[in-house]
Amino acid sequence: VDLYGAERANSKGWDLHDADDLAEIEQARAPFKTHQWQVSPITAVDAKNGAVEPVHNPADPSDQVGSVTLASPQDVAAALTAAKPWNAPAQERRDVLFRAADLYEQNFGEIFAALTREAGKTPMDAIAELREAVDFLRYYGARALELEHPARGIFTCISPWNFPLAIFTGQIAAALAAGNGVLAKPAETTAINAAIGVRLMLEAGVPAEVLQLLPGHGAVVGTALTSDARISGVCFTGSTATAQRINRAMAAHVDPTAPLIAETGGLNAMIVDSTALPEQAIKDIVASAFQSAGQRCSALRCLYVQEDVAETYLEMLYGAMDEQALGNPWDMSTDVGPVIDQKARTDIQDYIEAARREGRVMKELKVPNHGTFVAPTVLRVAGIQDMSREVFGPVLHFATFKARDLDKVVDTINATGFGLTFGMHSRIDDRVQQVTERLNVGNMYINRNQIGAIVGSQPFGGEGLSGTGPKAGGPAYVRRFTKPQAESAKT
Ligand code: GLU
Repeated sequence: VDLYGAERANSKGWDLHDADDLAEIEQARAPFKTHQWQVSPITAVDAKNGAVEPVHNPADPSDQVGSVTLASPQDVAAALTAAKPWNAPAQERRDVLFRAADLYEQNFGEIFAALTREAGKTPMDAIAELREAVDFLRYYGARALELEHPARGIFTCISPWNFPLAIFTGQIAAALAAGNGVLAKPAETTAINAAIGVRLMLEAGVPAEVLQLLPGHGAVVGTALTSDARISGVCFTGSTATAQRINRAMAAHVDPTAPLIAETGGLNAMIVDSTALPEQAIKDIVASAFQSAGQRCSALRCLYVQEDVAETYLEMLYGAMDEQALGNPWDMSTDVGPVIDQKARTDIQDYIEAARREGRVMKELKVPNHGTFVAPTVLRVAGIQDMSREVFGPVLHFATFKARDLDKVVDTINATGFGLTFGMHSRIDDRVQQVTERLNVGNMYINRNQIGAIVGSQPFGGEGLSGTGPKAGGPAYVRRFTKPQAESAKT
């Protein structure tokens, strides 16, 4: 089977240094600069609807982005009853997902505006996110033709706010490519982006009872959708703690063969030795730690620099951080936007304040004092063992190491129990091999940044506490949404 066939071409991008591309984006998103999206549950049955919540731009609280009507418990119950697997031939499922990809691309202006105003995405992040969503639709859509086993039935897809379109779409596209029905619960902070995605997938031809959107809080919608015997699997991206809760709910209520496909947290390290190219390494450190305001599970959290070159690196790192443009992500030149909401901001700032009391703040930028901005910050640590938890923001921990202790550093990274991404900058191949052979992580990046896995060529996912696999954007993913049967059962 040609897993990387004609459909492997990744989607079109835009160059933010190209005047024509900039003009194209400006013109397409302009009508959505003050637009207010009104989102409700999208179900195959008449919704009763719960409370209405306003949505504000995290970069500018005076900008109301729209409102979301939450799904009521009755809506969730009715959607569960109405849900159906997608009984269309594989070819048709593929064609519909391909059509959805085209519709996403045609609606890029609305998508960029919603990603920026609801989720705080910079133009660079919005472009990458749209492309990843489109790539998922095409890559998983193409896989529909290669499946050997039938769909499982109805999947619950629970997605995070940090990739409100890409991961949301990826989970759904994989479940649909395999022929399942989907009940989608988006993150409560980013239901508008989710609703745009569902609208376009339905417009492309996904039947209403096959894809339903239930915006709401985890305690109501998430709990109901993960503890109902009618679901045949859950696809989840979010915290390790929530994945564990879902696992327990499924164990108590759902068919024991129903899979939980979870992508969870990480405590990601990068090792830079004295042979690395400093200019390249600094660029990759800044991107890995601070792009998307550090709100990627792949982001660099703990940087280890070889002691001999640490002073040089710090000086260069501080200089590069000072060049970062912080502010309203609607501006084309913004590098770092806000974090998602006030709760996230308080959590990250409390963490930084605790480090400040211990005298560990090494560098801190200044951010706008409206909106939910957090300053990109560097904190001193002895090593990754000093990090009690994943802090989901622009906070980089800095440690040094001696060349002879390299194996010990790797063992300490393994000992966190997480295993998502890892970066290494070195020009000594043997040393790179020494480290990568010893380390248990899903995605290793050598002499480059450690974020932004590309669908099809860099399947993404972790080991240990970081996830169950199979890797998203890889050949095995869609198969996990099917029901393996023995040959004899098929004949
Ligand atoms: N796939 C993303 C990346 O490679 C990260 C996904 C996540 O943060 O959940 O940066």
